Amino acid sequence: MPPLEKPTEIKKIPLEPRQAIMAAQTDVLVVGGGPAGIGAAVGAADAGAKVILAERYGFFGGNATAALVTPLMSSYTYSKPVYKRDSMSLLPIDIGAGRKIIGGVFDQFIKKLIEDGGAVPPSIETGYVIPFDPEIMKLTALEILDSAKVSYLFHTYAEEVISRNENREVVFATKSGSVVISARVVIDCTGDGDIAVSAGADYEIGRNEDGRVQPMTLMFRMGEFDKHGFENYVRKNPGQWKGVYGLWDLIKEATEAGDLELQRENILFFKTPHEKELSVNCTRILNVLGTDVWDWSRAEYQGRKQIHQIADFLKKYVPGFEKSYVIQSGVHTGVRESRRIVGEYKLTTDDILSVRKFDDMIACGSYPIDIHNPKGSGTTLVHLPVNQWYTIPLRCLIPKKIDQVLLAGRCISGTHEAHSSYRIMPISFATGHAAGVCAALSVRAGKLTRDIPAIDVQNELLKQGAILDR
Ligand SMILES: Cc1cc2nc3c(=O)[nH]c(=O)nc-3n(C[C@H](O)[C@H](O)[C@H](O)COP(=O)(O)OP(=O)(O)OC[C@H]3O[C@@H](n4cnc5c(N)ncnc54)[C@H](O)[C@@H]3O)c2cc1C
Repeated sequence: MPPLEKPTEIKKIPLEPRQAIMAAQTDVLVVGGGPAGIGAAVGAADAGAKVILAERYGFFGGNATAALVTPLMSSYTYSKPVYKRDSMSLLPIDIGAGRKIIGGVFDQFIKKLIEDGGAVPPSIETGYVIPFDPEIMKLTALEILDSAKVSYLFHTYAEEVISRNENREVVFATKSGSVVISARVVIDCTGDGDIAVSAGADYEIGRNEDGRVQPMTLMFRMGEFDKHGFENYVRKNPGQWKGVYGLWDLIKEATEAGDLELQRENILFFKTPHEKELSVNCTRILNVLGTDVWDWSRAEYQGRKQIHQIADFLKKYVPGFEKSYVIQSGVHTGVRESRRIVGEYKLTTDDILSVRKFDDMIACGSYPIDIHNPKGSGTTLVHLPVNQWYTIPLRCLIPKKIDQVLLAGRCISGTHEAHSSYRIMPISFATGHAAGVCAALSVRAGKLTRDIPAIDVQNELLKQGAILDR
């Protein structure tokens, strides 16, 4: 049976009023425990706020752990204009380390993840990206939140936010029925802007010309990969590997034999901390939106079919993969792009490529504009000038018209093109960190989040180890 079709006509029916369990009252409620949520929760707690983090799954990490998105992209500027791939190490290298531009909670988290044996330290060897183990990351996240004294509730799906007096009350669907957590400030780290939209914020979806978003990708890990066998093959067949990507002849052969119908232009895999394991970022699911339940069902169905075709291709055609097998796929398909909430400022491509330094900057980024074609194969990659970085203003975290709700991570305010750069995990940690600090200062001063001076947020961020260089 195919997944359930979306009704052609949407008919709405009223529901009975219901009761909910009032679970807690707090200063800051962070909804969504991905990179942005971890940054926000620790940042707010370190600035003195009482913090609760609510997450729909039973672990933290967001895309990093639930969708198996690895590696963490670089937190340095790029000292070379383009990626080159070293086919031997299976990593994009030679991007060079310029200057470190993301610190704070991100650094604290990575330091612990490395100590826990869950990540490879960034270096020229790793191309300054960070390969990590998602299972170890789950525990690292818990322990970081424990030591920051952040309280949390798992298996809570935020459905709605209600404004009551000075508080924002978020209603969660749980196995215990509806549960409410009341807070002075709520930080929306859901990736999709679920809280901001429920509070009445405006949002945009997709690119200007046709509203299409970047494709979704169901990622997976392959085990029993024989690195040496693969390296031998690459060494003997240098023509198979040009620039970042490779395996051209094998892909052609398998496609002609009817064994492979690749939805993207290439096979992309990344090294993990384990020698016999690879992370594969290769499925491509088009015309699906991460805020539509019917699209979700189609995406999961297609993603799983594509994984098995790709894994079979690797096993059958590519030396080094003979004994390989799929260890694990994401709990869900990875969403690159959904809603972008309209904030007090909308970050643009020009801000990124002209490496603009805003007076109210709260985070830095150097990742290129990276748009996976919403319509099919092809990826647009536009780099910043060498050794440069852009900044994100505090205003991108403040939804227009809405008070006491802040944005962080991939749902902050920006254009489709700018989003393709600031969506990556280290930058999501950094915008989360800033939102957490702003929320805590708002509670401490008894002022609205929009009235907190950027300089106060910057000073607290610097105190907490963030990097805000001009
Ligand atoms: C296929 C793919 C490949 C990528 N590759 C890379 C890469 O190599 N390196 C890199 O750095 N970045 C990469 N990214 C980008 C990156 O993973 C995300 O943009 C980043 O994780 C965004 O962080 P976030 O915290 O905003 O959102 P998420 O990571 O999506 O976290 C959101 C969290 O909120 C929770 N949540 C959502 N809705 C609710 C709700 N209503 N109630 C309660 N909880 C909720 C979710 O369960 C999740 O834990 C990739 C993304 C994809 C999809």
